Amino acid sequence: MKLRFLLPVVALLSAVVVTPVAAAQADPVTAADACYTWGRTLSEGASGEDVRQLQIRVAGYPGYGAVLGIDGQFGPATKAAVTRFQQAYGLGADGIAGSATFSKLYALQDDDCTPVNFSYDELNNCNSDWSGGNVSAATARANALVSMWKLQAMRHAMGDRPIDVNGGFRSVSCNNAVGGAAGSRHLYGDAVDLGAGAQGFCALARQARNHGFNEILGPGYTGHNDHVHVAHKSSRFWSAPSCGI
Ligand SMILES: [Zn+2]
Repeated sequence: MKLRFLLPVVALLSAVVVTPVAAAQADPVTAADACYTWGRTLSEGASGEDVRQLQIRVAGYPGYGAVLGIDGQFGPATKAAVTRFQQAYGLGADGIAGSATFSKLYALQDDDCTPVNFSYDELNNCNSDWSGGNVSAATARANALVSMWKLQAMRHAMGDRPIDVNGGFRSVSCNNAVGGAAGSRHLYGDAVDLGAGAQGFCALARQARNHGFNEILGPGYTGHNDHVHVAHKSSRFWSAPSCGI
Protein backbone atom coordinates (compact mmCIF):
# COMPACT_ATOMS: atom_id res chain seq x y z
CA MET A 1 0.00 0.00 0.00
CA LYS A 2 1.31 3.40 -0.98
CA LEU A 3 1.09 6.29 1.34
CA ARG A 4 0.98 9.73 -0.15
CA PHE A 5 2.23 12.51 1.97
CA LEU A 6 0.97 15.96 1.08
CA LEU A 7 3.14 18.80 2.14
CA PRO A 8 1.30 21.85 3.29
CA VAL A 9 1.77 24.87 1.04
CA VAL A 10 3.10 27.77 2.92
CA ALA A 11 2.36 31.16 1.47
CA LEU A 12 4.83 33.79 2.39
CA LEU A 13 3.42 37.26 2.58
CA SER A 14 5.76 40.19 2.52
CA ALA A 15 4.98 42.93 4.90
CA VAL A 16 3.81 46.18 3.38
CA VAL A 17 5.72 49.09 4.78
CA VAL A 18 4.22 52.51 4.37
CA THR A 19 6.83 55.16 4.82
CA PRO A 20 6.27 58.85 5.50
CA VAL A 21 8.18 59.60 2.27
CA ALA A 22 5.71 57.61 0.17
CA ALA A 23 2.83 59.41 1.81
CA ALA A 24 4.40 62.80 1.13
CA GLN A 25 4.75 61.94 -2.58
CA ALA A 26 1.07 61.19 -3.01
CA ASP A 27 -0.44 63.70 -5.39
CA PRO A 28 -4.17 64.41 -5.68
CA VAL A 29 -3.83 64.37 -9.47
CA THR A 30 -1.62 61.35 -10.00
CA ALA A 31 -0.18 61.07 -13.49
CA ALA A 32 -1.95 57.95 -14.71
CA ASP A 33 -0.55 58.04 -18.20
CA ALA A 34 2.62 59.22 -19.89
CA CYS A 35 0.65 60.89 -22.67
CA TYR A 36 -2.19 62.68 -20.98
CA THR A 37 -3.99 62.44 -17.66
CA TRP A 38 -7.45 63.79 -17.09
CA GLY A 39 -7.93 65.53 -13.76
CA ARG A 40 -11.71 65.73 -13.53
CA THR A 41 -14.88 63.99 -14.64
CA LEU A 42 -16.21 65.46 -17.88
CA SER A 43 -19.86 65.75 -18.77
CA GLU A 44 -22.10 67.80 -21.02
CA GLY A 45 -21.50 71.51 -20.55
CA ALA A 46 -17.80 71.18 -19.74
CA SER A 47 -15.23 72.92 -21.87
CA GLY A 48 -11.48 73.12 -22.10
CA GLU A 49 -8.36 71.37 -23.26
CA ASP A 50 -9.31 68.22 -21.34
CA VAL A 51 -12.55 68.05 -23.33
CA ARG A 52 -10.60 68.50 -26.56
CA GLN A 53 -8.25 65.66 -25.57
CA LEU A 54 -11.29 63.48 -24.92
CA GLN A 55 -12.86 64.41 -28.27
CA ILE A 56 -9.72 63.35 -30.15
CA ARG A 57 -9.97 59.92 -28.56
CA VAL A 58 -13.68 59.38 -29.15
CA ALA A 59 -13.62 60.90 -32.65
CA GLY A 60 -14.25 57.42 -34.04
CA TYR A 61 -17.66 57.22 -32.36
CA PRO A 62 -19.74 60.00 -33.98
CA GLY A 63 -22.43 57.71 -35.38
CA TYR A 64 -23.14 56.88 -39.01
CA GLY A 65 -22.19 59.65 -41.40
CA ALA A 66 -21.33 62.12 -38.68
CA VAL A 67 -18.07 63.84 -37.76
CA LEU A 68 -17.34 64.88 -34.18
CA GLY A 69 -16.08 68.45 -33.79
CA ILE A 70 -12.77 68.68 -31.92
CA ASP A 71 -13.54 72.03 -30.34
CA GLY A 72 -13.15 71.60 -26.59
CA GLN A 73 -16.90 72.04 -26.01
CA PHE A 74 -18.68 69.05 -24.46
CA GLY A 75 -22.05 69.19 -26.23
CA PRO A 76 -24.66 66.57 -27.13
CA ALA A 77 -22.52 65.10 -29.95
CA THR A 78 -19.60 64.57 -27.59
CA LYS A 79 -21.94 62.98 -25.04
CA ALA A 80 -23.26 60.63 -27.73
CA ALA A 81 -19.72 59.75 -28.84
CA VAL A 82 -18.64 59.02 -25.26
CA THR A 83 -21.72 56.86 -24.84
CA ARG A 84 -20.90 54.85 -27.99
CA PHE A 85 -17.30 54.44 -26.83
CA GLN A 86 -18.52 53.18 -23.46
CA GLN A 87 -20.91 50.75 -25.13
CA ALA A 88 -18.15 49.49 -27.43
CA TYR A 89 -16.04 48.54 -24.43
CA GLY A 90 -18.79 47.31 -22.13
CA LEU A 91 -18.57 50.23 -19.72
CA GLY A 92 -21.51 51.89 -18.02
CA ALA A 93 -22.88 53.97 -20.87
CA ASP A 94 -23.92 57.31 -19.40
CA GLY A 95 -22.04 59.70 -21.69
CA ILE A 96 -20.05 61.00 -18.73
CA ALA A 97 -16.30 60.54 -18.90
CA GLY A 98 -15.08 59.46 -15.48
CA SER A 99 -12.47 57.09 -14.13
CA ALA A 100 -13.68 53.96 -15.95
CA THR A 101 -13.72 55.75 -19.31
CA PHE A 102 -10.34 57.37 -18.72
CA SER A 103 -8.83 54.05 -17.61
CA LYS A 104 -9.93 52.46 -20.87
CA LEU A 105 -8.47 55.36 -22.84
CA TYR A 106 -5.17 55.08 -20.96
CA ALA A 107 -5.08 51.39 -21.81
CA LEU A 108 -5.75 52.19 -25.46
CA GLN A 109 -3.00 54.74 -25.94
CA ASP A 110 0.74 54.68 -26.26
CA ASP A 111 3.03 57.17 -24.55
CA ASP A 112 3.04 59.36 -27.68
CA CYS A 113 -0.77 59.57 -27.55
CA THR A 114 -1.34 57.37 -30.56
CA PRO A 115 -3.80 54.51 -30.14
CA VAL A 116 -2.03 51.24 -29.42
CA ASN A 117 -2.59 49.70 -32.85
CA PHE A 118 -1.48 52.62 -35.02
CA SER A 119 1.63 54.77 -35.18
CA TYR A 120 2.86 58.03 -36.65
CA ASP A 121 5.43 56.08 -38.64
CA GLU A 122 2.91 54.00 -40.54
CA LEU A 123 0.85 57.10 -41.34
CA ASN A 124 3.82 58.83 -42.93
CA ASN A 125 6.07 57.03 -45.37
CA CYS A 126 6.85 60.33 -47.12
CA ASN A 127 9.28 62.09 -44.78
CA SER A 128 10.37 62.17 -41.16
CA ASP A 129 9.07 65.55 -40.03
CA TRP A 130 5.59 65.96 -41.57
CA SER A 131 6.71 69.10 -43.44
CA GLY A 132 5.92 70.27 -46.95
CA GLY A 133 2.21 69.56 -47.11
CA ASN A 134 -0.68 72.02 -47.34
CA VAL A 135 -0.65 72.67 -43.59
CA SER A 136 2.05 73.07 -40.96
CA ALA A 137 3.87 69.94 -39.85
CA ALA A 138 2.22 70.24 -36.43
CA THR A 139 -1.24 70.41 -37.97
CA ALA A 140 -0.59 67.50 -40.31
CA ARG A 141 0.59 65.39 -37.37
CA ALA A 142 -2.41 66.43 -35.25
CA ASN A 143 -4.76 65.54 -38.10
CA ALA A 144 -3.10 62.15 -38.44
CA LEU A 145 -3.60 61.52 -34.73
CA VAL A 146 -7.36 62.05 -35.05
CA SER A 147 -7.48 59.70 -38.04
CA MET A 148 -5.63 57.06 -36.01
CA TRP A 149 -8.23 57.22 -33.24
CA LYS A 150 -10.96 56.86 -35.85
CA LEU A 151 -9.17 53.80 -37.20
CA GLN A 152 -8.81 52.37 -33.71
CA ALA A 153 -12.59 52.61 -33.27
CA MET A 154 -13.13 51.00 -36.65
CA ARG A 155 -10.64 48.24 -35.86
CA HIS A 156 -12.43 47.45 -32.61
CA ALA A 157 -15.83 47.44 -34.32
CA MET A 158 -14.51 44.95 -36.86
CA GLY A 159 -13.35 42.41 -34.30
CA ASP A 160 -9.95 43.85 -33.32
CA ARG A 161 -8.18 42.36 -36.31
CA PRO A 162 -5.20 44.32 -37.70
CA ILE A 163 -5.98 47.02 -40.25
CA ASP A 164 -3.47 47.21 -43.08
CA VAL A 165 -2.18 50.80 -43.46
CA ASN A 166 -0.35 51.62 -46.71
CA GLY A 167 0.38 55.25 -45.98
CA GLY A 168 -0.99 58.61 -45.00
CA PHE A 169 0.63 62.04 -45.00
CA ARG A 170 2.29 63.32 -48.17
CA SER A 171 4.28 66.49 -48.78
CA VAL A 172 3.56 68.23 -52.08
CA SER A 173 6.57 66.55 -53.63
CA CYS A 174 5.58 63.11 -52.32
CA ASN A 175 2.05 63.67 -53.59
CA ASN A 176 3.29 64.70 -57.03
CA ALA A 177 5.61 61.71 -57.15
CA VAL A 178 2.73 59.28 -56.73
CA GLY A 179 0.37 61.22 -58.99
CA GLY A 180 -1.94 62.27 -56.15
CA ALA A 181 -4.77 64.74 -56.73
CA ALA A 182 -3.84 68.41 -56.34
CA GLY A 183 -6.07 68.93 -53.31
CA SER A 184 -5.52 65.48 -51.85
CA ARG A 185 -6.27 65.11 -48.15
CA HIS A 186 -2.93 63.32 -47.91
CA LEU A 187 -1.43 66.84 -48.03
CA TYR A 188 -3.30 67.62 -44.79
CA GLY A 189 -2.24 64.52 -42.91
CA ASP A 190 -5.68 63.10 -42.25
CA ALA A 191 -5.95 60.73 -45.21
CA VAL A 192 -5.04 57.08 -44.77
CA ASP A 193 -4.84 54.44 -47.49
CA LEU A 194 -5.86 50.97 -46.37
CA GLY A 195 -4.93 47.61 -47.80
CA ALA A 196 -7.49 44.82 -48.05
CA GLY A 197 -6.24 43.03 -44.94
CA ALA A 198 -8.42 40.25 -43.57
CA GLN A 199 -11.50 42.47 -43.79
CA GLY A 200 -11.53 43.19 -47.52
CA PHE A 201 -11.90 46.55 -49.25
CA CYS A 202 -15.70 46.74 -49.26
CA ALA A 203 -16.09 45.81 -45.59
CA LEU A 204 -13.55 48.51 -44.68
CA ALA A 205 -15.23 51.13 -46.86
CA ARG A 206 -18.67 50.34 -45.44
CA GLN A 207 -17.51 50.31 -41.85
CA ALA A 208 -15.62 53.60 -42.23
CA ARG A 209 -18.96 55.37 -42.64
CA ASN A 210 -19.58 54.85 -38.92
CA HIS A 211 -16.30 56.27 -37.68
CA GLY A 212 -16.06 59.91 -38.66
CA PHE A 213 -14.54 59.68 -42.11
CA ASN A 214 -16.18 62.26 -44.37
CA GLU A 215 -14.11 61.09 -47.32
CA ILE A 216 -14.17 57.44 -48.32
CA LEU A 217 -12.91 56.32 -51.73
CA GLY A 218 -12.76 52.69 -52.71
CA PRO A 219 -13.29 50.08 -55.41
CA GLY A 220 -15.06 51.41 -58.47
CA TYR A 221 -13.85 54.97 -57.87
CA THR A 222 -11.05 56.03 -60.23
CA GLY A 223 -7.66 54.88 -58.98
CA HIS A 224 -9.06 53.12 -55.90
CA ASN A 225 -9.50 49.51 -56.94
CA ASP A 226 -6.42 48.50 -54.96
CA HIS A 227 -6.99 50.37 -51.71
CA VAL A 228 -9.56 52.19 -49.61
CA HIS A 229 -8.86 55.83 -48.86
CA VAL A 230 -10.36 57.32 -45.70
CA ALA A 231 -9.96 60.95 -44.65
CA HIS A 232 -11.50 64.02 -43.14
CA LYS A 233 -13.14 66.60 -45.36
CA SER A 234 -15.41 69.59 -44.70
CA SER A 235 -18.30 67.99 -46.58
CA ARG A 236 -19.07 64.35 -47.18
CA PHE A 237 -17.79 62.59 -50.28
CA TRP A 238 -18.09 58.82 -50.33
CA SER A 239 -17.57 56.80 -53.46
CA ALA A 240 -16.90 53.09 -53.78
CA PRO A 241 -19.42 52.06 -56.45
CA SER A 242 -18.25 48.45 -56.58
CA CYS A 243 -19.15 48.21 -52.88
CA GLY A 244 -22.54 49.88 -53.29
CA ILE A 245 -21.26 53.15 -51.84
ZN1 LIG B 1 -5.54 58.11 -50.48
